Order: sequence, then structure tokens, then C-alpha cells
Amino acid sequence: MKTAFPELVGNSMLKERFRDEILGGTLAHAYILEGQDGSGKHLFSRLFAAALSCENKENDDFPLPCGVCPTCKKILSGNSPDLIYIGRKDKATIGVDPIRELRLDTAVAPNDLDVKLYVIEEAQLMTIQAQNALLLTLEEPPEYVRFLLLCESASPLLETIKSRAPLLRMEPLSGGLISEELKKRSPEAASLAKNDPAAFSELVAASDGSLGRALSYLDAGTQKALIAKRTLAKDFIRLAGSEKRAAETVDLLSRFPQKREELTETCSMILTALRDLAAIKRVDEPTLYFFSELSLAEELAYPLSLPKILGLEQSVAALSESINRNANIRLALTAFASDAGLL
Ligand SMILES: [Zn+2]
Repeated sequence: MKTAFPELVGNSMLKERFRDEILGGTLAHAYILEGQDGSGKHLFSRLFAAALSCENKENDDFPLPCGVCPTCKKILSGNSPDLIYIGRKDKATIGVDPIRELRLDTAVAPNDLDVKLYVIEEAQLMTIQAQNALLLTLEEPPEYVRFLLLCESASPLLETIKSRAPLLRMEPLSGGLISEELKKRSPEAASLAKNDPAAFSELVAASDGSLGRALSYLDAGTQKALIAKRTLAKDFIRLAGSEKRAAETVDLLSRFPQKREELTETCSMILTALRDLAAIKRVDEPTLYFFSELSLAEELAYPLSLPKILGLEQSVAALSESINRNANIRLALTAFASDAGLL
């Protein structure tokens, strides 16, 4: 079988599906592609555009897209006028105007390809009005038009949109695959893996299955902040399961970030860690998302009962909510400490 999208790591189901649909001529006009930041949605959109028009599409000696024909080169270098990206630019949402423009543009035949591919970035940020405008085009698109709606989560999209566009997801990559790719792509990663394997495996575990995120963590400053947050998450859980001393609690609370955004991020990290611990209590071979080693997760889970873990999850979720509601950070942390039984 023809290899498809070799530049995209993992995601074998997605690749096979699109290969079969492109070669079999059974493509839908629109797809929703869900995946977190750094999961490869943009890379896929370029490869998909190239695959649609590749001159070696029927030739089994080449992967799909071949990457070497003039058409592939033009598309992959970002120089094809028939691959069109629509985003929010500096606005908070995607309003109806750019979607109306898009609709007018679909009436114009492709410049030099057989297809015109419209990629809507952060499609979940389209206003209801914009989505309704898009729907008009999705109902009766010209034959040469294709859409990819990229989003972190498709849940804000209207049912009417979802009913016209199959929903596909980027697969999270395994820790092994991420660490292999990091070492292959970045000399910094390779040297970190060699000289500080513990920090390297922390980084891989924190990437949450996203290669793009893992690459961004290679920046020294980001990495340091990340490790501080992960250590804090583990220390919080350790303290929650041990005999408390007031001094330790005060010290722990002082390490929580004072900026809202970072504090929210810390909360979501602690929640992921707690969910790992809950999974350990529930099943024999849990899939872990925060911990890179089962042994440490088991050690932290040991003194905690499942109801206690679930209670801690609630306390952390409540802290995150009050931070998002703009509560005073110091007061919110104190309330959290007492709620989580640290005081
Ligand atoms: Zn090609």
C-alpha cells in the first residue's frame, strides 16, 4: 500500500483513511479535525492540500504526497493561492465577514490546482452567525471546494455543521514516540536526554502526547517553569497524603504561581496527576498522562483512598474556577488549602 503523509508522526488511522478517500475519490467536502495545540493539525492541512493535487498520486513508487513534484513543492512551501487559511487574526472570534468573503471566493475556480482547500483555523471560535454563513456553503459547495475545520474541541460547533463534516481527531503520541522524535529533530533534546535523563522524561511526560508542545518545552526558560509546576503538583499530592505540618503547607502555598494564567495551568496539571492516581485505584493497567513512571505514581497514590483523591480533584477544580472568576488569588489559595485538608 502507498505510504501516506510520512512527515506526520503517528496518526496511522487518520493517514490511512485520507489516503483511501483521496485515491478512491470518496472524499467529503468538509472535515472537522480536532487536536490540541502542537498535535500537527497545520502540518496535516498542508500535506492534505498537496496530496489532493500531487502529480504522482497514482504512482506507487512515491508516498502521498510525493513532496517532489512541482505542485507538491508549491503547496508545501506555502506558495499556492488555492490553499487558503482563514483565522481570527487579532480578534477574539471569527466573525461573519471573513466567512462571507470565503463564500464569495468559493465561486471563483481554482488558480492552478484542481481543488481549492479552505482551512479554518480555531474553527471553534466562529460566531454563531459565522457558522450559519459557512453552513450555506457547506450545503452546496462547488465540486472543486474542500474544507478543513481545525479546532481544539468541536463541541462549540453547531450540530448542523457537525452533521455535514465528519469529525476526526489527531491521536496523542506515546511517550516513546515523542522522545524518539525529539532526539531525532533537536540536538538540544538529544543532549538533554543524555545529560539529564530525569528532566528529559519530565518534559516528555508534560507534553501530553503533543510533539509540538514537547518541542516548545526545549526552550530553557519554559522548561524550568514547567518542571517547577510539575514538582509542585507532586509535592501537593505528597503533602495531601501525609501528616501535615503547618510550615510545610505555608511553604507549599507560597510556591503556587501568582499569575492567573499560570495558576490555572498548574491546577490543570495537578488535576491530570490526580486523575492518574484515581486510575491506579480503579484499574490494573492504567494509562498515565502525568506520570512518566508508574512506580512514583503508585507511591503517591498509596496513602490516599479513592474518595480522598476525588475530593482533592474537586478542591483543585474549585480553585481553578474561582481563579477564572477573578477571585483574589491569596484568598482563593487559603480557601483551597483548607478545602483540601492541608490546614
Ligand atoms: Zn507530488
